[in-house]
Amino acid sequence: MRKAILCLLLMVCSAAHADSFQYPLEPQAVAPDTYVLEGKTEDFSRTNGGFIVNTGYIVTDNGVVVIDSGPSKRFGEQQRALIEETTGKKVIRLYLTHHHPDHFLGNQAYENVPRYALPASKQGMQAEGENFTSNLYRMTGDWMRGTSVVLPDKEAKAGTETIGGHELETIALSGHTPGDLALFDHTTGVLFSGDLVFNNRAATTPHADIDAWLKSLEKLQSLPFKVIVPGHGKVAQDKVPIEQTRDYLQWLMTTLKEGAANGLDMNEVMQTPMPERFKSVALAHSELQRSVSHLFPTLETDSLKPAKQAE
Ligand SMILES: [Zn+2]
Repeated sequence: MRKAILCLLLMVCSAAHADSFQYPLEPQAVAPDTYVLEGKTEDFSRTNGGFIVNTGYIVTDNGVVVIDSGPSKRFGEQQRALIEETTGKKVIRLYLTHHHPDHFLGNQAYENVPRYALPASKQGMQAEGENFTSNLYRMTGDWMRGTSVVLPDKEAKAGTETIGGHELETIALSGHTPGDLALFDHTTGVLFSGDLVFNNRAATTPHADIDAWLKSLEKLQSLPFKVIVPGHGKVAQDKVPIEQTRDYLQWLMTTLKEGAANGLDMNEVMQTPMPERFKSVALAHSELQRSVSHLFPTLETDSLKPAKQAE
């Protein structure tokens, strides 16, 4: 009986929570003028409404610069309202780190703000945005109500620009996707890496080029940053998240290549035991399965090709 009442209470509470569709947005100060809204290290669900991603903002003398608009229209609206209410300043610019849906589907809230992205990201949003939207609707439900694709309207170019007293460097990279934009604030030492870096959350690879990704990590590692805001997972004050992401990607590639060379099939590679050091990484097992399905078929075909004749 007691159990039944508890179940009923839980159902009522979660229904009430879902009805309000309020994302739990709590600005975390990570450096002077710099805040992060940290998402959960989970997969998309009807409970988290897609808030599984980190977005950030920099409060400059001229107004606020936002990094990524989140997974839905509701998110973008709540994010912008929170920023403008707590800072008393207007948002003057939005940067989109890449074309994955959890990072840009809040764009509707920023239709009257310049929205910067790399050309490859814009292309990806154009080509896949509608599919992403219906997929997220399926996974998170009504949190997505009214969400549609709003594209970036400005091209982000590599270079440095001072905005309201903050010297911001935009860095054009790739590897997680064909267009990955990192933003480095030289004034505060904060690096927004987008999804080139994951912290204690397994990297996702549906559009990955692992070799390019590893090169981009080298570039990020060489920057004199004090704080790093990864695309997913906790903010850090050291290079550990970069090293962990590199370690994971290298292990993943070795596992896949060895599997292909040894003639394993996809299911067998998916059963590869997780090394001890990745066991505490969120979603390591499910992301391995997804990565095998994304990356293994190409490697398998490569390993079946006859070795190139010596000339
Ligand atoms: Zn991503």
